[in-house]
Amino acid sequence: MIKYLIIKVTGKCNLGCGYCYYMNDLAEPFRRRMARETITEIYNKYAEYARSHALRQVVFCWHGGEPTLLGKETFRWMLEKQAECLGDGLQVRNLMQSNGTLFDDEWAELFKQHNFSIGVSLDGSAESHDVDRPYHNGKGSYADVVDSLKVLARNNVPFGVLTVMNPELNGRDVFEHHYALGIRNMDFTLPILSYDSFEAIYGQGAVVKFARFMCELFDAWVEKNDPAVSINSLENLSRMIAGGASRHCNTTNRCDRYITVEPNGDVGICENARVIENTDNHPVDYYLTKTNIATHSFDEIEQAVANNFAVHEYNRRGELCLSCSVKDICNSGCSVHRYRKETGFQNPSFFCELYKQVISHIARFYQTELGKITIGEAAM
Ligand code: SF4
Ligand code: SF4
Repeated sequence: MIKYLIIKVTGKCNLGCGYCYYMNDLAEPFRRRMARETITEIYNKYAEYARSHALRQVVFCWHGGEPTLLGKETFRWMLEKQAECLGDGLQVRNLMQSNGTLFDDEWAELFKQHNFSIGVSLDGSAESHDVDRPYHNGKGSYADVVDSLKVLARNNVPFGVLTVMNPELNGRDVFEHHYALGIRNMDFTLPILSYDSFEAIYGQGAVVKFARFMCELFDAWVEKNDPAVSINSLENLSRMIAGGASRHCNTTNRCDRYITVEPNGDVGICENARVIENTDNHPVDYYLTKTNIATHSFDEIEQAVANNFAVHEYNRRGELCLSCSVKDICNSGCSVHRYRKETGFQNPSFFCELYKQVISHIARFYQTELGKITIGEAAM
């Protein structure tokens, strides 16, 4: 069932981040604002789908480009329309992923009124953030992001910060930086690249540096021992090491839980798949489902997503993973990190060494602290 929709309301952004897989490779049809007709179509068709399948909850994750570039008036209209079309019997959760440069009290009021949770991108201190996340004129965005976080905090809007890990930084320093800013809900992500582009961008040996970053981060987090601090990806690995279930797509080997709606109504699977290049060098082939909100029902979209996964075998794991001692924790990681032109998805993640080192590091901590966690030998 489709229960999580990433809605790309605009293909434009006021920042020019060097690593952005969306803006830096965006095909012309997506460089636009989503029309009000498209938004209305999404609501009406989803209402029909939810009714016919007796669905009770849906998540709308407002995304871009930078979604706030649509302006408050348009957002107000979208949210009123949402209540009008989806209000009856369906619980709607609104999320927004933003670069956090444009929030003010009026935005915060709107977020509160419609029960939003906001994710803001912040890549560490001004020094590193401003290099990675500048405006188009080269000026850094750090000061504006920090101002926006203060706006959200003083208006009691729930928010978290998402940080792209930087192998040249120390995970502990980044954690302490965020903590000092008052951020308690934080998460850290690996760069979204395929085998074919990772080494060209980060160079040899980078995986081990990413692993070091994550271990430093974990150590800083547990030493802080503040129950108010949440780091979703580390909590997830900890839970799995202790025998619990995964709550993170990267460690479930399931990629069919999200759909992405582009500004022109085209529907893709998880948008991270857009970085995968096929042999003819058409990255969108793996990503798009050849359906559009204007012409397809959600039942048809669901079927197209299933076909896409079946044809490309996104979740097919290789022999090495199937015989790996931490295979049930790592679950081969994000499919994008397993893709290679020659062999498709049937490879270990190129972050394999990171998973082994980080799982081992976390497990050792819990073994020492709790004395009862056991995991496979290869990780120890
Ligand atoms: S640690 Fe490596 S080999 Fe083991 S499941 Fe993960 S990607 Fe596969
Ligand atoms: S492609 Fe990666 S990020 Fe997207 S759903 Fe699959 S595992 Fe998650």
